[in-house]
Amino acid sequence: MKVVVIGGGASGIFCSGLVASFGHECVLLEKNERIGKKMYITGKGRCNVTNCCDVSEFLENVVTNRKFLMSSIYKFSPFDTMDFLASNGLDIKVERGNRVFPTSDKANDVINTFENFARKNNVQIKLNTKVVDILTRDNRVVGVVTDKGKIECDAVVVATGGKSYTTTGSTGDGYTWAKRLGHNIVTPKPALSALKTSGVDGLAGLSLKNVRATIFDGDNELDSDFGEMLFTHTGVSGPIILSLSSKIAKFYQNGKFSKKLAVGIDLKPALDMDTLESRILRELSDNINCTIKNILPSLMPKSLIPLVLSQAKISQTTVANSITKEQRKSLERVIKCIKLDILDMEKLEFAIVTSGGVDVKQIDPKDMQSKLVKGLYFVGEVLDVDALTGGYNLQIAFSTAYAMASSIK
Ligand SMILES: Cc1cc2nc3c(=O)[nH]c(=O)nc-3n(C[C@H](O)[C@H](O)[C@H](O)COP(=O)(O)OP(=O)(O)OC[C@H]3O[C@@H](n4cnc5c(N)ncnc54)[C@H](O)[C@@H]3O)c2cc1C
Repeated sequence: MKVVVIGGGASGIFCSGLVASFGHECVLLEKNERIGKKMYITGKGRCNVTNCCDVSEFLENVVTNRKFLMSSIYKFSPFDTMDFLASNGLDIKVERGNRVFPTSDKANDVINTFENFARKNNVQIKLNTKVVDILTRDNRVVGVVTDKGKIECDAVVVATGGKSYTTTGSTGDGYTWAKRLGHNIVTPKPALSALKTSGVDGLAGLSLKNVRATIFDGDNELDSDFGEMLFTHTGVSGPIILSLSSKIAKFYQNGKFSKKLAVGIDLKPALDMDTLESRILRELSDNINCTIKNILPSLMPKSLIPLVLSQAKISQTTVANSITKEQRKSLERVIKCIKLDILDMEKLEFAIVTSGGVDVKQIDPKDMQSKLVKGLYFVGEVLDVDALTGGYNLQIAFSTAYAMASSIK
């Protein structure tokens, strides 16, 4: 059997190597001058290649179409990825949150491991080759058209990725072919994305540790997360914001939020209201003649003070002994919840992952084959699947690739 894999990203490289290792002729087509361009920037250049957790914990971190992924994750789990890497000569380590990285901290070493595996199994890797269409006859794949000519084959694996960080090559080409061949495309949206918010003037670069961020729809709490976040020029980002963003992506319809959303930041999640009140009363009575802006640095970073005081409706120059009970209560409420209106998500281009893509209802979860066109497969981020940060998205790429390849073993 001759198989063409379109896209030399995480899913495509692994899939091609596996297909060839099972004795099939395999051609990997990549439009860039090298493979693995997106992998190179993963995990800030260190590549968080998977998460060292069992399947049920893994599935809890899948945001979209968890059920669809169940079979493939069971077939090729995070432990299988770690075994694969180790048996192909890559030393790995497990860090905070069970995140798995190469010991060298170099994403390139991960790419080389997968590339060597593909080359060792005689995959024909054709770089600088852009696929422009997929050929079918009688609802069966018969080949692909590239900018360098046609290639006939028995099966095509679309591994073209999502539609973010387009300079890495993931420009959404797979959606166009899938749609032309009758597939429904769930509108691509940003997931794992920074949020644009109100009220962040002068805060860019400030990072907060051990805070709790909560997403609000009016007074309703939608979701919250504890950890680290940072302010950008236009809003908020960092690990807990990225995770929460995936959960609010579903409120993003036709380019706008369907609800008015806000993010609340609890600067002192470890203190309940009574404890915080005692702490503030103590600070005020110990510094009775000081202005409030000079007292608060013991409770928060200096650059946050203007925002906190403005939300608490207290002038920065108010002296401690003139603060009313009402003002003090208001200050306590704001320290437990600085509220910023969410104006938008960062553009899809700058999202870590694309939510949306090829509708999984038309894909067989056992082998990733299209239910509409025989011999046509979709693996990786081109599918409407996405997960939180922590190595889960690359694992999805590997597990879906394995499901495809093992089906033609
Ligand atoms: C900044 C950043 C950091 C990330 N960090 C992590 C992390 O640490 N851990 C994690 O799990 N996930 C991370 N991700 C997500 C992860 O990188 C993706 O989910 C994963 O790479 C998807 O793999 P893929 O094979 O489906 O697609 P991609 O890796 O996007 O590969 C698609 C390939 O297809 C090629 N292609 C597209 N169209 C054509 C065409 N017409 N012809 C030929 N070739 C084509 C592209 O050039 C590209 O090489 C990160 C993403 C970003 C943007």
